[in-house]
Amino acid sequence: MDGTKVRAVVLGTAQDGGYPQAGCMRSCCERARSDGGFSRTPVSLGIIGSNGTCHIIEVGRKIGEQIEIWKDLDGFEWPLESASITHAHLGHTDGLRLLGREVIGAEGITLHCSESMLSLIHQTPTWNILVEGGVISPRQWESFTSFEPSPGCGFTITPIPVKHRAELSDNHALLISGSSGSLLFMPDQDSWSETIGESTIRDWLASLGADSALIDGTFWSSSELPGRDMTEIPHPTVSESLELLGERSNGDPDISFFHLNHTNPLHDENSEEFAIVSKMGWRISKPGDVYVLG
Ligand SMILES: [Zn+2]
Ligand SMILES: [Zn+2]
Repeated sequence: MDGTKVRAVVLGTAQDGGYPQAGCMRSCCERARSDGGFSRTPVSLGIIGSNGTCHIIEVGRKIGEQIEIWKDLDGFEWPLESASITHAHLGHTDGLRLLGREVIGAEGITLHCSESMLSLIHQTPTWNILVEGGVISPRQWESFTSFEPSPGCGFTITPIPVKHRAELSDNHALLISGSSGSLLFMPDQDSWSETIGESTIRDWLASLGADSALIDGTFWSSSELPGRDMTEIPHPTVSESLELLGERSNGDPDISFFHLNHTNPLHDENSEEFAIVSKMGWRISKPGDVYVLG
């Protein structure tokens, strides 16, 4: 690919548990176990800056595999310059320790996060040791304030606060903006009404200047987890998002669903549900999807 362009590559598309998910013996996950081609790693996005520097959003336990995909597809090269983390939940942070001396042995990766995430890092000995050892150097962002992940990378990140179960930290969606395009990365949210208020999804994305968006597609419908109280794990379902969106028309943003739970029928490209999303003009993310942003 052209080394002077800012581009983002989707590296992972699953909910925090990944697909197949540990402990699930049902047909959803048997399918992914018997054919590795169906398996998916937790959400992550790689971004290459206009100066060739490499940046990642989320640091999950599959970062090794994800970097392999990135390397084959778009020439990822060490060192990783920066990482940005939306919130503290499992799949978004459980690769941080891999950056340390037991595995990657990184030095001085700038870690961008919110104040509440930063204080959690300092309070968590297994993370704080990475700060003390110079593996990561955390830098706190302010909501709605754009920053350049590293000098001269040719793009900015704007953290947008988004309500999501906050037992450990707050949560932000991240808007990645280059000179020719902007992509919103929003893996988790509790509800559309809390995220966009009285606005519509289209108007809200337009107000952010996002022409593409990766949005929370955790569950297809609320009947997906029999026996689990869905109010404990609130996410707008994809069915609900589709109802709010209606069909895509000219000039609409390019919206792609990701962060899919293992139970989500959208993991199957041949499912009826997948066909419904495509027919309405929206997309389901896959690893390797590229967004040229500048
Ligand atoms: Zn998540
Ligand atoms: Zn399963």
